[in-house]
Amino acid sequence: MHTFLFKYLVFGPISSRRLGRSLGLNILPKEHKLCNFDCVYCECGEDHQKHQNVQFPTVEEILEELLLKCQMLNDRDIKIDTISFAGNGEPTLHPDFEEIMYAVKTVRDLLLPDAKIAVLNNSTMLHKRQVRKALEIADYSICKLDAGDESTFYSINRPLGNLTYQKVKDNLRNYGNKIILQSLFFKGKNEQEQLGNYNDQEVEKYLSLVESIKPESVMLYSLDRTTAIPDLEAVSIPQLKTIAERLNHLGITATVA
Ligand code: SF4
Repeated sequence: MHTFLFKYLVFGPISSRRLGRSLGLNILPKEHKLCNFDCVYCECGEDHQKHQNVQFPTVEEILEELLLKCQMLNDRDIKIDTISFAGNGEPTLHPDFEEIMYAVKTVRDLLLPDAKIAVLNNSTMLHKRQVRKALEIADYSICKLDAGDESTFYSINRPLGNLTYQKVKDNLRNYGNKIILQSLFFKGKNEQEQLGNYNDQEVEKYLSLVESIKPESVMLYSLDRTTAIPDLEAVSIPQLKTIAERLNHLGITATVA
């Protein structure tokens, strides 16, 4: 099984298709993935375990690494477009997420004032008041939606515990119109089960769900890295553009990366 884990709290800068020159922040454990999804395409590999006694990095540890990295970037006159929360799982699961957001904003304002703060998240924690409050600090709150129906959601995102599709849809619809959706389309098969979300029916259902969420914009993309499950196929840029055009017809801005 493929597994890739970030070994540092701060990594990069890397060149991101969607976020430009991006400084990554991994606020999750370095030893294992921590997420309430187990997406078939996850670059961190598969992990269905419910981890006990999780050792999260502290706010101080994150702040210390971030300060050092930002100072080094400034010393070398390296410009950054985005400070991006990404890494070994779902950042909004960190119990001190709000405090971390305030700390990161302070460092950004001080040392990298032109950089935007982006939080890539899986939309499962948006019902929590503190998470919403923390996300208000971000310039971009980029929320996952890959599935237009329940069975696709369960087969692709593979939620852990009692997380439901309805919960994710409610979270997205109730979050407000500042929302940026991120949707990954792909094709593929896994043993007997057909996997993927790129076919006429799936796309139709996805479009009508997005219309009901009324996001500020949508980022469409496909596979670019090694995936947890083998034999998944990327959807081409022209195919993604076709979905983007259909979103545009619904009055929704969509970009393809
Ligand atoms: S939500 Fe992100 S981190 Fe979690 S399993 Fe899916 S791809 Fe991996």
